[in-house]
Amino acid sequence: MWRPRIKFEHRPVQHHDGLVRIGSNSPGNTQGIPDPDGSVWALLALLDGSRTVGQIADELAYRFPAYTHDEVSKALDKLNTAGHLEDASEIELTDYERERYSRSRAFWRAVDRTPGRRSWDAQLRLRQARVVIVGIGGAGGAAARLLVMSGVGQLHCVDADVVELSNLNRQGLFIEQDLGKPKVEAALERLRQLNSHVEVSGSREHIKRPGQLRALAVACDVLLMAADQPSTGEIRSWTNQACYATKTAWVHTGYAGPRASVGVFRPGTGPCYDCVRAAEQHRRSVVSPRIAWAPGESMTREHAATAATAAIAGALAADAVERLIIGVPYLPVNQEYGLILGASRGYEALRLEQPWPDCPTCGHDGHG
Ligand SMILES: [Zn+2]
Repeated sequence: MWRPRIKFEHRPVQHHDGLVRIGSNSPGNTQGIPDPDGSVWALLALLDGSRTVGQIADELAYRFPAYTHDEVSKALDKLNTAGHLEDASEIELTDYERERYSRSRAFWRAVDRTPGRRSWDAQLRLRQARVVIVGIGGAGGAAARLLVMSGVGQLHCVDADVVELSNLNRQGLFIEQDLGKPKVEAALERLRQLNSHVEVSGSREHIKRPGQLRALAVACDVLLMAADQPSTGEIRSWTNQACYATKTAWVHTGYAGPRASVGVFRPGTGPCYDCVRAAEQHRRSVVSPRIAWAPGESMTREHAATAATAAIAGALAADAVERLIIGVPYLPVNQEYGLILGASRGYEALRLEQPWPDCPTCGHDGHG
């Protein structure tokens, strides 16, 4: 039975100008409601989750006899559609989970405007979710930590490498005692220590062909691609093909210099990763050719990265994975975006309005 309750983070405030403002802690979602006779404030006071809609209408009608059940229902519908209400009916979570994830609950109910959600629905969705991460180095390892801390149900880690000394400047999953160990082995030990309630598994494998990714994609709700071998573009394109075929939501993440980025894709809802790639290749084909400086073999070619850039890329990726799982409606999908350290704003890049007609992955059926 639906028992509407105002989200604590959206709690209303009564102003002297006769307006009641609700949602002021939810940026972009503040609403002012005229309340000349005090009935709005009285209605809001009844929305503490202890009453059904019928009980709320009865109580309001007792104090303001002019208000019908129908009008009360309509007022509740408006508040619900605007995302200010949650359903306070009971939900199956242990006391342990309620305490452990209480701050997460506050976050999700503040930002999630889906009408009628119960306040623990986001956590339940995370608990039911299966995530695969390919590449658990800097960004992938950071994302793995955050997803395990957030209480995803199952996390499967894929990586073929061993922990090397040069990893320790940014790959926060590993400690000095892990040097020489397979990354998957060290990661599983660390992740299980972080949250023993998450089912963590791993496999030590090189991704050498798209078929491996297809097998991984079909077994999860969201796949996070954080590997860069054989090349960033190629393995992301393989992931795109695998996830397009299996209709699996996916995220990629990476960092280069001060730039930390994510790409977020929900196959079948717009342009895919290969659309953007094909469009970019086309753009380059029509501008004058560029010749890249080719350093000699003696040049070092290390990836420019710090612990901060890796952690930020991983955090953006974990956030995107969680939003795909929970279904927060305003997550931008089918595009890439990110942050540049030191810049005051994030950036949006590589975004197409429509699928690219000649896309090798989704172009044949005319939609992405
Ligand atoms: Zn495409």
